[in-house]
Amino acid sequence: AKSDPDTPICRFNAEMDRRSREKTQIVHDLRLAVDNDEFELVYQLQNALDTMEPVGFEVLLRWNHPKRGRVSPDVFIPIAEETGLIRDIGHWVLREACREASLWRRPFSVAINVAPQQLVQPSFVEDVMDILMETGLDPARLELEVTEASIIDDQAHTLKVMHKLKSIGIRIAMDDFGTGYSSLATLQAFPFDKIKIDRSFVQDVHKDAQRAAIVRSTLLLGAALDIPVLAEGVEVEDELRFLRAESCSSVQGFYFGKPMPRDDMRAIACRDDGE
Ligand code: C2E
Ligand code: CA
Ligand code: CA
Ligand code: CA
Repeated sequence: AKSDPDTPICRFNAEMDRRSREKTQIVHDLRLAVDNDEFELVYQLQNALDTMEPVGFEVLLRWNHPKRGRVSPDVFIPIAEETGLIRDIGHWVLREACREASLWRRPFSVAINVAPQQLVQPSFVEDVMDILMETGLDPARLELEVTEASIIDDQAHTLKVMHKLKSIGIRIAMDDFGTGYSSLATLQAFPFDKIKIDRSFVQDVHKDAQRAAIVRSTLLLGAALDIPVLAEGVEVEDELRFLRAESCSSVQGFYFGKPMPRDDMRAIACRDDGE
């Protein structure tokens, strides 16, 4: 049979077309999701490594789509960022998470992810202050997690924003440390209160000499700069043992718990005996 050289290209185009229609649909649905109450927050424990006690929760966003079910943030956050929808979504997350944290009986910190476009919004600091006023949350309990991507655009402006946030008492963590273009330069230029080692380095750290070297250097760096270091993605005891031997400050990962729904989180955060 004669093969038609155009066929693969047509198929390719059809696939591209299908994907672009799918994305258009997601953008459309995402626009309605806040109003339709389709977002949910889940909470992942952060534990001190010396006491193993919980010290806070990171807030993670979930989208319960009426037809698709749960859509992963790895799918919809990039689309929300591309379309600018992240600004409204991010504002909703901040508000809901601060409101929730203001109800906790234990003085846990609440760590909230902030997208690049949120940080550069002219009203960002004011928005955060309004939310703190409205919810009554102590700013000292709020930690904003930003990645390197959040700060490469307009460094001078970002620096100003960070200083303002810090002057209110809010802490700022550098998320996904080690995965960016110039994590060290970023760390030097910005006043971070915490370093979160990306889970790609933490996974199998006890078995992988390269990762061990990277994690060790990051912990030394944190100690030298007097910035506490949290290790993300701790799944097994051996990883934990390694981190403890290297005096990491705090940990987060499936070993301590997967991100949990509000009621499970409250059972921990609203316990009144401090046990
Ligand atoms: P992230 O900020 O690095 O969050 C940590 C991710 O690692 C979460 O994925 C968490 O569920 C997962 N994780 C935690 N411990 C473990 C572990 O032990 N093993 C493994 N394999 N994974 C672990 P999730 O919830 O799917 O979120 C993915 C990303 O989506 C986040 O990465 C963050 O970049 C983004 N994201 C989530 N919620 C928000 C939000 O409210 N706003 C913004 N801007 N981004 C968000
Ligand atoms: Ca994070
Ligand atoms: Ca991270
Ligand atoms: Ca990440």
